[in-house]
Amino acid sequence: PNEDSVSASLPQPSISTPSGESRWSDTTPYASKKKLQSWLQLSNGDWELVKIISTSGTESVISLPDGKVLKVKDEDLVPANPDILDGVDDLMQLSYLNEPSVLYNLQHRYNQNMIYTKAGPVLVAVNPFKKVPLYGTNYIEAYKRKAIESPHVYAITDSAIREMIRDEVNQSIIISGESGAGKTETAKIAMQYLAALGGGSGIEHEILKTNPILEAFGNGKTLRNDNSSRFGKLIEIHFSETGKISGANIQTFLLEKSRVVQCNEGERSYHIFYQLCAGAPSSLREKLNLRSVEDYKYLRQSNCYSINDVDDAEEFRIVTDALDVVHISKEDQENVFAMLAAVLWLGNISFTVIDNENHVQAVEDEGLFSTAKLIVGKDTIVQKLTLSQASDARDALAKSIYSCLFDWLVEQINKSLAVGKRQTGRSISILDIYGFESFNRNSFEQFCINYANERLQQHFNRHLFKLEQEEYIQDGIDWAKVEFEDNQDCLNLFEKKPLGLLSLLDEESTFPNGTDLTFANKLKQHLNSNSCFKEEREKAFTVRHYAGEVTYDTTAFLEKNRDLMHVDSIQLLSSSKCHLPQIFASYMLSQSEKPVVGPLHKLGGADSQKLSVATKFKGQLFQLMQRLESTTPHFIRCIKPNNLQSPGSYEQGLVLQQLRCCGVLEVVRISRSGFPTRMSHQKFAKRYGFLLLENVASQDPLSVSVAILHQFNILPEMYQVGYTKLFFRTGQIGVLEDTRNRT
Ligand code: ATP
Ligand code: MG
Repeated sequence: PNEDSVSASLPQPSISTPSGESRWSDTTPYASKKKLQSWLQLSNGDWELVKIISTSGTESVISLPDGKVLKVKDEDLVPANPDILDGVDDLMQLSYLNEPSVLYNLQHRYNQNMIYTKAGPVLVAVNPFKKVPLYGTNYIEAYKRKAIESPHVYAITDSAIREMIRDEVNQSIIISGESGAGKTETAKIAMQYLAALGGGSGIEHEILKTNPILEAFGNGKTLRNDNSSRFGKLIEIHFSETGKISGANIQTFLLEKSRVVQCNEGERSYHIFYQLCAGAPSSLREKLNLRSVEDYKYLRQSNCYSINDVDDAEEFRIVTDALDVVHISKEDQENVFAMLAAVLWLGNISFTVIDNENHVQAVEDEGLFSTAKLIVGKDTIVQKLTLSQASDARDALAKSIYSCLFDWLVEQINKSLAVGKRQTGRSISILDIYGFESFNRNSFEQFCINYANERLQQHFNRHLFKLEQEEYIQDGIDWAKVEFEDNQDCLNLFEKKPLGLLSLLDEESTFPNGTDLTFANKLKQHLNSNSCFKEEREKAFTVRHYAGEVTYDTTAFLEKNRDLMHVDSIQLLSSSKCHLPQIFASYMLSQSEKPVVGPLHKLGGADSQKLSVATKFKGQLFQLMQRLESTTPHFIRCIKPNNLQSPGSYEQGLVLQQLRCCGVLEVVRISRSGFPTRMSHQKFAKRYGFLLLENVASQDPLSVSVAILHQFNILPEMYQVGYTKLFFRTGQIGVLEDTRNRT
């Protein structure tokens, strides 16, 4: 009989011990397997399915799909799975688990619009970049009734709801992936399912309407994604005792405020600016003296005003409707738009140099930014600014206004979605946060984002690997430890006090004479011995992240970390007659105990007690991790199949790199080499004991369980008997369940 058909009809994991052997390639000499198909890596890195014609010694003669015949070394071949395993639902089912097989399996499904695949406990979602017929009421109903079993965001969300109710434990759905991979869309799909199942009170409509608002104010067009989220988001959806949605709370992380004053060629600032300019009704237009987008310097600089297939005016209408739904009054809405217009007009302020020391004066008689007040001890000094200082002061104000506006909006939304006083306490949180970033030039933003990803990766590792192993050890299971990439060293590099990246950054930020260069030098001086740190030329340094090495350029690190505001700017806001600027001024003041900040950090430095951006972010992150720790996590890994945002194209190299980065292959390997199905002796004996054909002498659960295992001929390598539980490899309990159901 053909071996393939046997292993194919009973897809079983290989029972090799995981110790020491190569991770992904099955190292059994290939020729001995008498397999007919195999993977051969081409010079461009892609894998091709080839047929083996004959094998002699360490070489094989193979034929390529185009008919060409070649002689290759066996070590260049990687075993392929039998055809019958094409496109399995769960990568765990593959007989051969290697990179080409995983890539091919995902691609095979992708080509048939099956964009979701399980990788053990993790859901992999490959971005289709087109409408796929997988969503809507009928599908939601089908998943609810469990009439469909294919992997889906709906299925994951459904288990979250069930587990929340069954275990009385809060749940989280953690979505990660590169920019453009589909995180935000996936989060919305999960929210739709929650709203459909937990709806009724009406609050679910409000919750769904927060999406267009936050996307308008927090998303923009980048080179990677036309609708890129420039902030991280955790939405916690609360349920009442009857399983209905009772409210929600949104927390946001690290909005990229630099985008307000500056963005790359071909990118856009935040959508809302373009929407306002295109969609404001004429009365509002007049009131705010609104012009078209080309008239604003902040919007003009990147040479990109529109997005394909997006009608900004129509979007404006959608956003204002959504603002209505979350109870933001028309008056407040108008205030919001006025602040947006103020930001745009700020950008148009320019300065002229008035003396040979490069001091400036604002064109059009606006005195504000040509001088700065410094408070030094009890004295106030008025200092003239240079051109770059004046522009920086202007931009700092614009950025601060925008980020305050964003925070204020989120606060208003939260008030509207607030859970009543009688909290029932159960919730499902959805996390949509920027994935690992590595560009040609990486700055402070990437530094923070990648740090966050290290933390999230650790959370992922702990849950999927560590806890798994701990359970085996606790139950006395003999189980060769599976190694996984522990990223604790890298986290230490960031967090260790006093000599870690974050501490050193904060220290240098408070030093009056600190510069990006002195910061970089200090890192080299103190961190060179750390295995995750690598020194680079001049102002750069490299971190060895779990997902790869990233070189950071420290230019502007200190300034971005200090994020100082001029006293005069804050005073200007607080002197405004409108209420939003006053609120913003108090936000800004509350962030710094002593807002004694001048344009020259030298003078502001030592006195300023403001929390640094990195420290504040770290605090938020710790709080987030704490919240997530108390939940049962469900992981979704989004994959971007091409960099063109276009349907149909699947670049193997790009996909592979993402699968490696987010630990998908690793998790399948671990799950397969372990015993993922567990049941206590009691439960097992109770559930299947009645199937026993012969009486067992002792009635204790362990003896009954063992007798059942013998009767059903379950192979010894397919299970392990622990102190309290039985552990099975994937699929082993199926035969028992089938018999039980038939009886
Ligand atoms: P960023 O980190 O930049 O915010 P992201 O991971 O949130 O990126 P999305 O904005 O969710 O990425 O997705 C990018 C685009 O991909 C969407 O605008 C949409 O066109 C497409 N897309 C993503 N998921 C799906 C899906 N399930 N069905 C159809 N199109 C999708
Ligand atoms: Mg997004």
